Amino acid sequence: MAYPNFVHGEQTVTGVEGDDAGVTVVVRRPDGSSARIDACYVVGCDGVHSTVRQQAGIGFAGSRYAESFALADVHMDWPLSRREVHLFFAPAGLVVVAPLPDDRYRIVATLDQAPEHPALADVQALLDTRGPARRRSTVRDVVWSSRFQVHHRLADTYRHGRVLLAGDAAPRPQPRGRPRHEHRHPRRRSPRSSPTCSPVPPTPQSWTPTKPPAGRSPRA
Ligand SMILES: Cc1cc2nc3c(=O)[nH]c(=O)nc-3n(C[C@H](O)[C@H](O)[C@H](O)COP(=O)(O)OP(=O)(O)OC[C@H]3O[C@@H](n4cnc5c(N)ncnc54)[C@H](O)[C@@H]3O)c2cc1C
Repeated sequence: MAYPNFVHGEQTVTGVEGDDAGVTVVVRRPDGSSARIDACYVVGCDGVHSTVRQQAGIGFAGSRYAESFALADVHMDWPLSRREVHLFFAPAGLVVVAPLPDDRYRIVATLDQAPEHPALADVQALLDTRGPARRRSTVRDVVWSSRFQVHHRLADTYRHGRVLLAGDAAPRPQPRGRPRHEHRHPRRRSPRSSPTCSPVPPTPQSWTPTKPPAGRSPRA
């Protein structure tokens, strides 16, 4: 079933225009043409680089932790229990070994500079230097690998007028606190036939995030 007011996977949001009467999302189609979607509200669930958030002028303050994380799903001979997640806080750094279905394991480790796609030798070296000391694990193959970095960023508000944010577009709800900033409206939209929208209710205070205490990671 196609929902006419959803932005579908093949469309890209390029603009959000709003005023007290409604909101218009401008999308680019795969053939390069653009279309406008009129609605009473728009929910930006478009990830950490959210175009909707940027278009609404909602701040996203914070920064990136210096270290990176290596991530790999592997098949291996593992000497410890498959019923537990193991964390090794070794002098060389952290390595996490988590059992997955289909006889796989997920390895996550902190590194100064994780390779873009950790190879078998990289993962084996991490386990050799940080994992179980007495019984060796042997990686047989790497099914998938990647790297990521952790940010500590927070949207200034989860709702601004008719624009709402969800998921990574506004990470980590901290349900208390007061609005800290005034936000500009999204660009005013051009008049056109749009749905009749009821007035925007005031933003409940619990929708406005507060920063986590300094030094604590919102997600490790
Ligand atoms: C390597 C890695 C491992 C992770 N492991 C875990 C884990 O173990 N547990 C956990 O809880 N979380 C994990 N996460 C985090 C988790 O993936 C995210 O929190 C989650 O995917 C966020 O979902 P989302 O729908 O908000 O955003 P996303 O998954 O980022 O989805 C956003 C969607 O919006 C689309 N989009 C973006 N811009 C536009 C645009 N302009 N127009 C139209 N569409 C657009 C994107 O194409 C995408 O489909 C991991 C993340 C990474 C990178």
